Amino acid sequence: MASEDRVLLVDDQPMMGEVVNRMLGAAGGIVLRVVSRPQEALAAAREFTPTVILQDIEMPGMNGFELLDAYRADAELAEVPVIMLTSVENAEAKARAFELGATDYMVKFPEAIEMVARVRRHSLVRRQALARVQRAAEAERARNPLGFGREPLPQCDIAIIGGGFSGLMSAAQIAAAAPGASLGVFERRLRPGPGVAYGACDGEHLLNVPAARMGAFAEKPTAFHEWLEREFPGRIGASDFAPRALFGRYLLETVVGALGAAGSRPRFVSDAVVHLERHAFGFELLLASGRTVLARGVVLAVGLPQARAPWRGVGGDALATIPRKLLVDDPWEAGALEGIPADGTVVVVGSGLTAVDVVLGLRRRGHRGKLVLVSRNGRFPLPHAAAHGAPPALDAAELSRGPREAFRLVRRTVRELAAHDHDWHGAIDGVRPHATKVWQAWSTEQRAYFLRRLRPYWEIHRHRVPPRLLALLDAERAAGTLDLIAGSIASMAPVAGAEAIDVRIDVRGKGARGAVQAHRAERVVNCVGPVTSVTDTVDPLLGSLFRSGMAVGDALGLGLRSDAEGRLLDAQGAPQQGMRLVGALRRGELWESTAVPELRVQAAVAAGSLVRELNLLGAATAATSA
Ligand SMILES: Cc1cc2nc3c(=O)[nH]c(=O)nc-3n(C[C@H](O)[C@H](O)[C@H](O)COP(=O)(O)OP(=O)(O)OC[C@H]3O[C@@H](n4cnc5c(N)ncnc54)[C@H](O)[C@@H]3O)c2cc1C
Repeated sequence: MASEDRVLLVDDQPMMGEVVNRMLGAAGGIVLRVVSRPQEALAAAREFTPTVILQDIEMPGMNGFELLDAYRADAELAEVPVIMLTSVENAEAKARAFELGATDYMVKFPEAIEMVARVRRHSLVRRQALARVQRAAEAERARNPLGFGREPLPQCDIAIIGGGFSGLMSAAQIAAAAPGASLGVFERRLRPGPGVAYGACDGEHLLNVPAARMGAFAEKPTAFHEWLEREFPGRIGASDFAPRALFGRYLLETVVGALGAAGSRPRFVSDAVVHLERHAFGFELLLASGRTVLARGVVLAVGLPQARAPWRGVGGDALATIPRKLLVDDPWEAGALEGIPADGTVVVVGSGLTAVDVVLGLRRRGHRGKLVLVSRNGRFPLPHAAAHGAPPALDAAELSRGPREAFRLVRRTVRELAAHDHDWHGAIDGVRPHATKVWQAWSTEQRAYFLRRLRPYWEIHRHRVPPRLLALLDAERAAGTLDLIAGSIASMAPVAGAEAIDVRIDVRGKGARGAVQAHRAERVVNCVGPVTSVTDTVDPLLGSLFRSGMAVGDALGLGLRSDAEGRLLDAQGAPQQGMRLVGALRRGELWESTAVPELRVQAAVAAGSLVRELNLLGAATAATSA
């Protein structure tokens, strides 16, 4: 809070300045500025920022009432306390002054002690109000450091769709390459955090990539760990799995820093882009709010669309009668897991990384009820190994022959590692550097075979969980507070007179033929993760791109077709000028297109090539982005 009282005296009589100065000066801590021409009072007040204005009524050119009216109509001065200090002593004048917004009224001359007391009181109220505004602004900056708001620019050079890692790093890279380019970043989630993985998590949701590999820029992979060292010296090691929320903070700071260094001020807009089409200017974006935005170029950084909730199609007519709040479509939405009775049963559909996060998150919030996890394979991801040195060098040519050959090589490598007392993790880590090359070498049929037969094994080996967290889940299973079932939801129906759902689960696996389990659940949570085939999506933007032929799914529906620079390919296979794809929707082409180490490279390549293509290097901008 400002520590001094700042008084602006507006009075045309020069001796008033001396008198008031003597009266206030003796009290100490009051700074006085005197203006004798009322016409200059507004400008002086804006520049001096008084905590109180003292002013006469009868002045030549502009009287005190007119001046008061002008303050109250001015956004900067409307709330500044104004004390009328005048020799006019009648009830009408006082009533008029208060009607126009005067804070107080004194007749010349009060005792000094009274004048000081009134000035100090009104000044204190003003200073407290200013401090409240400042605190609120600081809290808003901490909550929303990028300044997401609802109002888009009518046009910009590049529109970035998606405010996750890929979208934000594309913005940072474009800003660095073309500081003058005007950017709009569009994010449909209400939470202005950095995407699904790093925005909606607590301190115990951990990264699944070691800290030293999570730097936001490819040329500095250790930057995140260095940031951790500065913020929490000695607490998180280079090979540790740091909390995801900390990565979110680092990412926001990095992006704010990179934009600031480039002098770029993108407009961050909280709105969904629901339709996109070509336009003479470049592209026209339609937002969910009904607004439209023109952009010369577009970066599509939308992540993967969520799969349809697993209960669609199994509930029949009964599904429509289940209260919506009992079905959690997206566990990452703000507040999605709030309001669950602490002893209630929760059915979680899925058993991958999202399910693990949800289960542990519920327990941390004090949820005591039974947790029932149901997934097709009925398996948790496997644990990360302790550091096991450099991965073995696997023969890329053999891996590239086909998925069966690759599987055999991995099995052989696991056996060799075991013979030397090493665990299997090294074999998977040995495949990863070759993953994209190998994927691209396989035919569509070979990729399809992999997806059908080997993908579940790859997923649980590739996307691992810190052992400490798996130990918690195992302890729960042993205690009977958590069930993990291989199966699928068979039916769901509301429970009459209770906020609960009767869930029936078809159980799979050995000896389970025809077995059905019934659970009464207070919530059912969708943790099945992203869609397996994007062409089935109900996402409005992707749907509109497919319909117009601006985008086309890859042969296996894993993502959208794009070229090596991330240029989206249209239905005829031609690269779309002015458009880039960054993120997991490139997995059909690259396979590994999920984690920060891949996405940071994609963002840099896409940004560089788009800036060159649109000729934005040092060019005048299409619109200003202030
Ligand atoms: C639970 C979880 C944990 C993970 N942990 C790690 C990890 O430890 N290390 C790692 O490297 N990777 C991890 N990942 C992978 C992670 O997805 C990537 O690292 C990265 O965050 C993906 O960023 P993205 O911007 O491509 O996608 P997202 O984070 O999905 O962001 C895409 C954004 O686009 C928005 N969007 C979509 N469509 C529209 C539209 N039409 N209009 C406006 N906005 C739209 C979405 O709301 C979303 O916020 C994890 C993922 C998850 C889900």
